[in-house]
Amino acid sequence: MDQHTVNTIVTSVKQDNKGHWHTLENSPFYAEGGGQPADRGSIGSHDVLDVQIENGEVWHLLSEGLSTGTPVAVRIDEDVRRDHSIQHTAQHLLTAILEDRHGIRTLSFGIGEEDSSIEIETAAMDWTQIEALEQEIQQLIFDNHPVHVYEIPDEKVDRPRLRKATNRTGMIRIVEIEGIDYNACGGTHVEMTGQLGMIQVTSLKKVRGNIRLTYVAGNRALKATQRAREALRTIHHTFSTTNETVAARVIEEHTIRLEREKEIKTLEERIAKAKVKAVLQEDNYVALHVGRTEAETLTTAIIERIAATGRIAVGANYSAQKLFVMHDGTHDIAVGTFLRAALQEMQIGRGGGNHKQAQARFTSVSELERGMEEIVRRLQEGGLPC
Ligand SMILES: [Zn+2]
Repeated sequence: MDQHTVNTIVTSVKQDNKGHWHTLENSPFYAEGGGQPADRGSIGSHDVLDVQIENGEVWHLLSEGLSTGTPVAVRIDEDVRRDHSIQHTAQHLLTAILEDRHGIRTLSFGIGEEDSSIEIETAAMDWTQIEALEQEIQQLIFDNHPVHVYEIPDEKVDRPRLRKATNRTGMIRIVEIEGIDYNACGGTHVEMTGQLGMIQVTSLKKVRGNIRLTYVAGNRALKATQRAREALRTIHHTFSTTNETVAARVIEEHTIRLEREKEIKTLEERIAKAKVKAVLQEDNYVALHVGRTEAETLTTAIIERIAATGRIAVGANYSAQKLFVMHDGTHDIAVGTFLRAALQEMQIGRGGGNHKQAQARFTSVSELERGMEEIVRRLQEGGLPC
């Protein structure tokens, strides 16, 4: 049996809406706490779903209840434990280097299932700084500093050296990364910094005037690199680019797209003008425009123009399965309320809007047509003021 499997017995059981919680005579499990998630593993043949500490007792969540006194073989998922230890020790390094070399304090941290983050007390940080930071940390990984974990009585603790003051008394668990960090910490850690492999910052976000830095370490960093490479390969394959040319090419494609969109808008405006002209030749108060194949933006452009003439404009777009109702604001009818109420009565589509414009979406073209005919009929017969 390896070091993470123990034979023990169930000492108590309780139940809540999450499931069945058990205490063990001897638990090797790390309970969630200090920014680190709980261990995974099994008790007997049951997966451990969560581990929480309550009044000093470690409670293990299972989907089924075991009886008190049951002997059980308890196993910890070592890969998950190792991964959490790596992400957590990586946080020690990030926090230590940011504080000692850059004067930036860590305010909080959390280890997630995908990535981990620290909130740091600085208003701004850019990717050039991040690259330099990653380089500094990589050197500490290459130098393979030992990580010592030991317990000493509180009076022996070198308090001024502590990364963060502690008000714990009795025996204090110290985690010391030689030459880098001296910390009172109850989490799990690697034995040497070389075991971290690599730390990669994945995002920077402004929060509460500070920066939230997200990172991955160890195998997570390797996987992140592999995913990024795969994404890049798809782009290279599509655009025949290389790492050196891809940025320029993507910007170029984006510029072309913006220009095309501008051209399309100009063309749509021309088409709209022509179509509006046709609609306005009929002396109708409620003007209907049906766009069977055109883009949604063209349909709305057309009915905006119709509405500007003082008519109540109804537009149907078949590709988006949407209906639009609009006027210029001079009419008494609140089309948003009208449309929502009418659709509710017909029990098709969903929509609403404000006083002068509204839209609805349907689940099929036939529903759209039914809605359109009924809306137009109601608007025409609705005793609207002319
Ligand atoms: Zn720690």
